[in-house]
Amino acid sequence: MKIGIPAEIRAGETRVAGTPETVKKLVSKGHAVLVEQGAGAQAHFPDDAYAQAGATLVDTVRAWDADLILKVQSPTDAELAHLRRGGLLVGMLDPFDADHVARINARGVQAFALESIPRTTRAQSMDVLSSQANIAGYKAVLMAATLYQRFFPMLMTAAGTVKAARVLVLGAGVAGLQAIATAKRLGAVIEASDVRPAAKEQTESLGAKFLDVPYETDEEREAAQGVGGYARPMPPSWLSRQSALVHARAAQADIVITTALIPGRTAPTLLDENAVRAMKPGSVIVDLAAGRGAMSGARAGGNCTLTQADEVVVRHGVHIAGYTNLPSMVATDASSLYARNVLDFLKLIIDADGQPKIDLRDDIVAATLLDRGTSMLKTA
Ligand code: NAD
Repeated sequence: MKIGIPAEIRAGETRVAGTPETVKKLVSKGHAVLVEQGAGAQAHFPDDAYAQAGATLVDTVRAWDADLILKVQSPTDAELAHLRRGGLLVGMLDPFDADHVARINARGVQAFALESIPRTTRAQSMDVLSSQANIAGYKAVLMAATLYQRFFPMLMTAAGTVKAARVLVLGAGVAGLQAIATAKRLGAVIEASDVRPAAKEQTESLGAKFLDVPYETDEEREAAQGVGGYARPMPPSWLSRQSALVHARAAQADIVITTALIPGRTAPTLLDENAVRAMKPGSVIVDLAAGRGAMSGARAGGNCTLTQADEVVVRHGVHIAGYTNLPSMVATDASSLYARNVLDFLKLIIDADGQPKIDLRDDIVAATLLDRGTSMLKTA
């Protein structure tokens, strides 16, 4: 099979969907791999390394002229025009954007959205959301540490003692748990909140304190169970009790990392302007839900209403960082992990003779194939 790996062209995207390591494995299985010149440059995978792995370096048009296209981000409209009818497309294709999905399907390809991979044990090695969220959680803490004008660890020096930073993590999923682990390694004192009861034990096992907001009604308890491992929107009664607790703890925190998401919906608001106003001057918010919040305007809001996507703003003396693509700031490892996820996924849609085999009895294939809708869309 001819496999194309075009360069990513969306602003700020530095990752690449195939690395010399994964290209070598594809070539060893008899595939012809066409890598666009410079596709791996920003992730520090030079063209030479791809050539040594057996790829052919080509221009944009030839990279798209393949039976199977591997992408990180979903193709832009200009990129979609390159797609070969009847081909296969694999990437993070934004399955909740119905208009975009319709445009992809109109190209007559079979497209697989890797965000829709179920959170099951068998799918773990292909789980791009986990591999990339893990990186985002790590980098969020490092970016916070850079913006914060104090130390993270407690230090006893000849010039006096420095207190440890207090970190509040809102949303203890994959990114939140990695943020907790990273902040812990830097010596911070950490608290965390999540809607899912399972998050309590995971948070505590990493040495952070869980902010318990007890469930008071059956409706609250049922909503907290989520669906497919994901959170569901919580009833307003629970959210208002959580909000009071979060406001109080944010006012004591030095760093707040927010990661709260609900698939296919706008991100929940956890910090409004009053909460930011009550925070200490010099404190830092890193909002991983930037650009996905309920505020009007695509670039405004996230878990914090004052967040601006892809900007660091200072409001009421608080730095608020709205990075929307932190994995691209760790481009080499983010690409390596993503490319391995992709390689594992390809085993499900390519048979031993190197031909496409789309078996919809496979739950992972069925969930990711766009023109059938996705499991997440069906359950959200
Ligand atoms: P996500 O990115 O969709 O959401 C991030 C976190 O925000 C979640 O923990 C969610 O519960 C939380 N959240 C939502 N609303 C909130 C609110 N109002 N306040 C506080 N927190 C809120 O989630 P994710 O990181 O992709 O993980 C989703 C689930 O999948 C988790 O249960 C995770 O453990 C599980 N998971 C399972 C596997 C597997 O079994 N293979 C792999 C990865 C993740």
